[in-house]
Amino acid sequence: MTERLYYADSLLLDFDAQVVGHGEWDGHHSVILNRTAFYPESGGQLGDRGSLGGLEILDVQADANGQIHHLVAGELPEVGTQLSGEIEATRRRQHMALHTGQHMLSRALLDVANAPTVSSRLGEHNCTVDVSVEELSEEKAWEACSLVNEVISEDRAIRAYVPDPAVLASLPLRRDPKVENEIRVVDVDGFDMSPCGGTHCLSTAQVGLVYVRSVERNKGGARVNFSAGQRARLETSLDGHRLKALSDRFSCGPEGVKDAIENMQSALKEANARANQMQKLYAASYVERLLQTCGETARLVASIPGADPALLKQLSQQVVAKRSDAVVLLAGVVDGNRNVLIARGENSDFDCGRIMKILGEQNNGRGGGRPELAQGRIPTGGSWDDLVQAALEALA
Ligand SMILES: [Zn+2]
Repeated sequence: MTERLYYADSLLLDFDAQVVGHGEWDGHHSVILNRTAFYPESGGQLGDRGSLGGLEILDVQADANGQIHHLVAGELPEVGTQLSGEIEATRRRQHMALHTGQHMLSRALLDVANAPTVSSRLGEHNCTVDVSVEELSEEKAWEACSLVNEVISEDRAIRAYVPDPAVLASLPLRRDPKVENEIRVVDVDGFDMSPCGGTHCLSTAQVGLVYVRSVERNKGGARVNFSAGQRARLETSLDGHRLKALSDRFSCGPEGVKDAIENMQSALKEANARANQMQKLYAASYVERLLQTCGETARLVASIPGADPALLKQLSQQVVAKRSDAVVLLAGVVDGNRNVLIARGENSDFDCGRIMKILGEQNNGRGGGRPELAQGRIPTGGSWDDLVQAALEALA
């Protein structure tokens, strides 16, 4: 079995090894080494990248037997070859910060919010800790985050080791081990002790920063989205720039953005209410005008600029309520689209769905509906009266 060098030294980024075999992982050929400093994807942490014998490492995975597979770009080096491996440092350091940050955040969530971690994921772009409490407020999560950052400032030592079983039994582990033998403990001095086989920082200061982005509900529990290290520093600075851009738009400081948005929302609500009121008045007078044009056929054809499908429906309902033998063929152009609504009163036997279908076919549009009511959309261009006339002729 491959010796895992990263257990003893998570900052070992160069190593020499011998190819002892070729394997297969998920349909790809892999290189098996006698020893490796490459961390394989496991325990919610992504695998390392870098190079092996000059070949680019595409992925590192461990199979069910614990064998580590190095997937490389290019032809596999022969069994027996001595080669050197180089771990991509920035990615490894980022993973160390995220992984250590996750341990500390899980501990803080337990201490501050009594929220035990059930699982965690350290993704390429997003990291999460899932906890088994139904309600976790953002305030509590931020409190936990701030406790973590205090411990980061204290620059406490972090030690990873495999204790004797007797010693292990006496340790206050935060969670149960997932393996039975050779249980490795990660000890954040005086703060957290968890069983883990990942790569961690050597002191809390190396984590740099933990940043809780948000809390959301998740399958009966709560999910905390967080980041750490360089990624957290980038995200906080990006968020700061975004907030600055927003506050510039509102001509206020960052602390005034919330009030400015609330004021805008209430002004928008008032404006919408006024617009609805105006629309009702407009609709009522428009219906009267439509009804005056209604002759023997009781057929009303009108194109109303700016009328959306909701207004078209409102108008048609008011017309057929006043004249039960009417057929209403309305169009409204909004944002370059011609919306069509066709409706009939209860004493009409006109087939609205059928004429909508014909209108669609004749004009490269689409739509349909029931005999009583049909809706659709056709391209603008041509007079609405002419289009209706052509469709009525085809219907006859
Ligand atoms: Zn860990």
